[in-house]
Amino acid sequence: MKYYILFGPPGAGKGTQAAPLSKEYNLCHLSTGSLLRAEIAAGTELGMKAKTLIDAGNFVPDEVVEGMIESKFNTVKDVEGFILDGFPRTISQAEDLEKMLAARGEEVTAVISLMIPDSLIRERIKHRATIEGRADDANDDTITNRIQTYHAKTEALINFYKEKGKYIEVDGDGGPGQEGIDKVTERIRKVLA
Ligand code: ADP
Repeated sequence: MKYYILFGPPGAGKGTQAAPLSKEYNLCHLSTGSLLRAEIAAGTELGMKAKTLIDAGNFVPDEVVEGMIESKFNTVKDVEGFILDGFPRTISQAEDLEKMLAARGEEVTAVISLMIPDSLIRERIKHRATIEGRADDANDDTITNRIQTYHAKTEALINFYKEKGKYIEVDGDGGPGQEGIDKVTERIRKVLA
């Protein structure tokens, strides 16, 4: 099985890119953010607890996201592998993922990192707010917190995976519109090939 991590700051386009790629390569797209939003929409207890944290731009506890990921690893069938989007987000989550995969005789195949500057992060999130209506995209303080948390906690994963020889960087800015999105998809295809 292939285990790809699609890495990058909030708004880098991880979900946007994972959608066509997962279809093309028969991979299961696992977005922890989407799984959490589904829990919120379903009004579950987990969703209620997560909502307060997400709306403020804070992480939900490791055991919550890791439980969701592991349950998908256990139940999803008939795929060539997984594209992880939004997980891991901290060194401790990455270490737990290593253990989770080792227990299955598997390992992370590659980390594909979509890089965009902070200025573009804010612009893209603001734009997404008008389309998807996510509360965490609409509030400036929440966006600032997410960008700061990315630099403080998530960016360290770059060296973590570089040291393992698994880190590949792709320019996440392909220019405006669908054409720009397609350009980035093509860059990732080259990496996967
Ligand atoms: P974005 O890519 O814009 O950050 P996501 O949909 O990936 O959006 O995540 C939305 C929110 O869900 C995050 O800000 C965080 O609160 C929560 N979340 C998602 N993945 C994780 C994770 N691996 N660990 C902790 N919290 C997470």
